[in-house]
Amino acid sequence: MQLKVKVIFVAHIQFQQVKKFYPNGFVAIDNLNLEIYDNEFLVLLGPSGCGKSTTLNMIAGLEDISEGTLSFNGQVINDVSPDKRDIAMVFQSYALYPHKTVYENIAFGLKMRKFSNSEIKVLVDDAARRLDITKLLDRRPGQLSGGQRQRVALGRAMVRRPSAFLMDEPLSNLDAALRISMRAEIKQLHQNMKTTFIYVTHDQAEALTLADRIVVMKDGQILQIGTPDEIYERPKNIFVASFLGVPQINLIEGNLREDRGELLFESACLRVNLTGLQPSNFSSASSAQVTLGIRAEDVLSLDAANAPETLTGKIKSILPIGSDQFLETRLSASDEKSYFFRVGKEYRNVIDGSFHFQLNRNRLHLFDTQTTLSLL
Ligand code: ATP
Repeated sequence: MQLKVKVIFVAHIQFQQVKKFYPNGFVAIDNLNLEIYDNEFLVLLGPSGCGKSTTLNMIAGLEDISEGTLSFNGQVINDVSPDKRDIAMVFQSYALYPHKTVYENIAFGLKMRKFSNSEIKVLVDDAARRLDITKLLDRRPGQLSGGQRQRVALGRAMVRRPSAFLMDEPLSNLDAALRISMRAEIKQLHQNMKTTFIYVTHDQAEALTLADRIVVMKDGQILQIGTPDEIYERPKNIFVASFLGVPQINLIEGNLREDRGELLFESACLRVNLTGLQPSNFSSASSAQVTLGIRAEDVLSLDAANAPETLTGKIKSILPIGSDQFLETRLSASDEKSYFFRVGKEYRNVIDGSFHFQLNRNRLHLFDTQTTLSLL
């Protein structure tokens, strides 16, 4: 079955020096350069207001582009209307027609595109089977749960067989358990459909689970693009490091200096030998203001403080998370800040007890405190 209107197939999407100003002069997107590859699952991730939806809407043609070019397969499409772009969009609000049945909702776009009733039936039944909503086809949206409505919205997008799916926070109205199971379904859908997915979220866990590549945005700009592992393990700056990971990465401001061939980090609460790390732009003659980043899981808990390089904290609270537990600790009497470390379930201790640990040196992060950029 072929689509009945001439639309531009989307295999490769490219933003080149794109800016977006809203009529009030607000710069929502500032010099965006981004390539999206055929069939990839790309996630736009960032805090509220960073420009994710604006970027998605420009791809859909729902927002115009103030400067620069957006092209599909090398063809500039700045002025191509949304209906000529072979794209389907799924919104956070689902945007279902309340008076139509599930079947009619899914079929609606096909009807508008003049598919025959028998063609529509084949496509709707197939989508309903894949999304496990066959039994719901006669119901209206008001008679469905949030997760079921979300499936209908996905079904409506699927039947169009678009060459790109755009999704704007599609799971944010669902409860935590359903969100996790729908994530798995969306990932499966991407694998089955072999189509480009561009997905907007402010939920870092969702981004890490779903994406082939993540684009981290802030204030209308891209801070980093990479695979989930690259973004999590090699964040380019303090913002990216803090935005990914729960609890947030522990950040300790201090001083880095070299002393008789050893590289030492010193702060009010911690003194660590970092010999072996090779921070960029660090000369042995100087000392530098740096921020040490330690993820909660990158420590080894010890029974006692007698091993070399052992650090000790005072436990302020113990937070079990089922499989493991987080320890909230203070690293010195003078520092009121809490640092969180992850230990196994078997680890036993008490509040106000001492937590002895070693750092996993290979997994430490070091940032220039002033520029916030990674030094490793
Ligand atoms: P959220 O996660 O809250 O949806 P977002 O990252 O998707 O945020 P956008 O909706 O793309 O952010 O908005 C980017 C910026 O542009 C925000 O600061 C927003 O206030 C601003 N903005 C959006 N629409 C308009 C508009 N019509 N006029 C003026 N400013 C706007």
